[in-house]
Amino acid sequence: MIDFCVLGSGISGSTIAKLLSKKYSVEIIDKAKGVGGRSSNKKVDGSINFDHGLQYYSFKEPKFGRFLKKLMKMKVLKYWDGNHLDFTFKKKINTPKIIGINGNNDLNKYLLKNIKKNLNQEIINIKFKKTHWEIYGKKNIYKAKNLVISFPFEQTKKLAKKYLTRRLLNLGIKMSPNITLMLRQKGLQNLAISSMKFNNKLISWAANENSKKRFTSKENFWTIQATTNYSKKIINVYKKKKVYFSNLLTKEFSNILNCNYKDFQVFKIHGWKYSSNQISSGTKCYWDSHFKIGLCGDWFIGPKAESAWLSANDLFKKIKKTRLNN
Ligand SMILES: Cc1cc2nc3c(=O)[nH]c(=O)nc-3n(C[C@H](O)[C@H](O)[C@H](O)COP(=O)(O)OP(=O)(O)OC[C@H]3O[C@@H](n4cnc5c(N)ncnc54)[C@H](O)[C@@H]3O)c2cc1C
Repeated sequence: MIDFCVLGSGISGSTIAKLLSKKYSVEIIDKAKGVGGRSSNKKVDGSINFDHGLQYYSFKEPKFGRFLKKLMKMKVLKYWDGNHLDFTFKKKINTPKIIGINGNNDLNKYLLKNIKKNLNQEIINIKFKKTHWEIYGKKNIYKAKNLVISFPFEQTKKLAKKYLTRRLLNLGIKMSPNITLMLRQKGLQNLAISSMKFNNKLISWAANENSKKRFTSKENFWTIQATTNYSKKIINVYKKKKVYFSNLLTKEFSNILNCNYKDFQVFKIHGWKYSSNQISSGTKCYWDSHFKIGLCGDWFIGPKAESAWLSANDLFKKIKKTRLNN
């Protein structure tokens, strides 16, 4: 039986899995087809790709900065240079923006390189059996001596409620949604924009995928994010009216850019139900040495990838202090 089963291959799950794998046998399970979670990359038309989740890595904590820089040296990550504009359309002096060489899930792929991944496996139940955990997927049942869950708060609560303290369950974390649109703009417009922030009711951010220099094309490819307020309004209904909401957001974007609406083609509209939470939980992670269950994720600390990484590192410290019967 393996020592640790880590549920979720986002940044927190990938980080804790990599750390644990130095000492223990570890497997990852994720419901998605690929690793990355919210740091994901969508390929369309061969080489064209969109970072439709996490836009870029940035850091406040020097240790996360050192980790990112190490991965840049190893050619896993790189700087996203270019023209990053604020909503006045003036160039802003920005903090460095760091992205994956091929896609923003490169970091996860690197961390999980030597770890067994069980993908396409949605977990629907977990049971503690005194000496081990039984983890029920829609297709398979897994067993592990210890369990780590790295899902967003709401999904964690749903799966593990029975085994978590009331204090944790009552944290009242509410993660906001985000609606993301992936667009092609026909005919290369030399707009010289890498990313833009907007002061708009519908759209808050746009990234020009061409500016990441992962592919060349005679057309522009954009990832557009709706504002949190607008995303909250439509997250539960957008699936039924995908064309309507895609067109509405595209029209708004073409108006802001002063471009022809007809030059845009929608690839996909994606809804992140649990995109981020602004409020910290007051703790960095959760470890219960009785049930041998750990939790980590960005939501413990804040809305960024850095929070997910810090949470996983803190959980590792806690696990190291525990005597495990492995
Ligand atoms: C649109 C968007 C833009 C963002 N932009 C930025 C940015 O620019 N900079 C930044 O630092 N951060 C950004 N973030 C936040 C960043 O993506 C997250 O902080 C980080 O990726 C969270 O990682 P995580 O491991 O905690 O969670 P996740 O990445 O959510 O990982 C959880 C994993 O669990 C899996 N899972 C869930 N339920 C189940 C189940 N039942 N069975 C199996 N698997 C399951 C999911 O598939 C997922 O892979 C953005 C997020 C979004 C959505």
